[in-house]
Amino acid sequence: MAASRFSESPAAGVEFAYSGDLLHAEDSAFQHVEIYDHPTFGRTLVLDGAVQTSERDEFLYHEMLVHVPLLCHPEPRRVLVIGGGDGGALRRVLEHPSVTEAVMVEIDERVSALSREFMPSIGGDVWDDPRASVLFDDGNAYVHADGDPFDAIIVDSSDPVGPGIVLFETPFYRRCLERLNPGGVYVAQVGSPIYFQDEMRMAFHNARAAFADVRLYLGHVTTYPGVVWSYMLGGERLAVDAGEAGARATERKIVTRYWTPEVHAGAFAIPGIVRDGLDGEARNPFGS
Ligand code: SAM
Repeated sequence: MAASRFSESPAAGVEFAYSGDLLHAEDSAFQHVEIYDHPTFGRTLVLDGAVQTSERDEFLYHEMLVHVPLLCHPEPRRVLVIGGGDGGALRRVLEHPSVTEAVMVEIDERVSALSREFMPSIGGDVWDDPRASVLFDDGNAYVHADGDPFDAIIVDSSDPVGPGIVLFETPFYRRCLERLNPGGVYVAQVGSPIYFQDEMRMAFHNARAAFADVRLYLGHVTTYPGVVWSYMLGGERLAVDAGEAGARATERKIVTRYWTPEVHAGAFAIPGIVRDGLDGEARNPFGS
């Protein structure tokens, strides 16, 4: 099979290109879904031309998206994952022994079906875990409906385009706060802190209209444009102490390949270029 080229261009004259065997492509009811077999990253999911996850680097993203907020909570029991159709976030949630119920609400059933077929290692056996409920619905509609509160809401959505845009708006954040128990934590991926500063800024300012305490933290994902990636934590009064998180990780026997207490501490150290981006107006700090 001849390798196909796929790429993302986050800024003028900048391109992150990959080539791999295209194993499957289809237009679902919500987006264009592609699965590639990449020589370095293995099976890779691409939605509307944007890389979402790959078998070999998914841990970089899922450990930071899930373990950081759950280790900032003393005893997460009910957890909501919005998006996350590949199952990687849900799998990490269920590694926390205090979790008795995890609900995943993914808008596109085809993403989960194809992830299970082509990238089974990402979700593993999470689909059959009795603590897990997997629903195919719009996450915004789900949180606006009545239902029991959660200790953590984890938004593993695609970027703020198409079905994902509503998940970056103030009404959604406000409703998430209402669906959280006291002391509950909210988290979402908010894009490249360098190339997509407009998206990060929009999310941050919209979230601050809902949550009393909003923090940005950073990580690295080798298949995302620019590699450095940003996440946003929201709540009433967040406790992000790395020592406490480290003790909880040991107690909960959480095994990681990227996250460490030192990485946890460093993730909240925001470089000037990113902090300026939160207050700036440009899409990136290079003026292009
Ligand atoms: N880690 C990836 C990223 O940072 O781009 C996201 C991976 S995950 C596959 C993204 C999922 O969010 C997709 O499967 C998409 O269908 C889902 N999604 C987008 N908008 C949604 C919505 N409004 N409700 C629920 N799921 C949504």
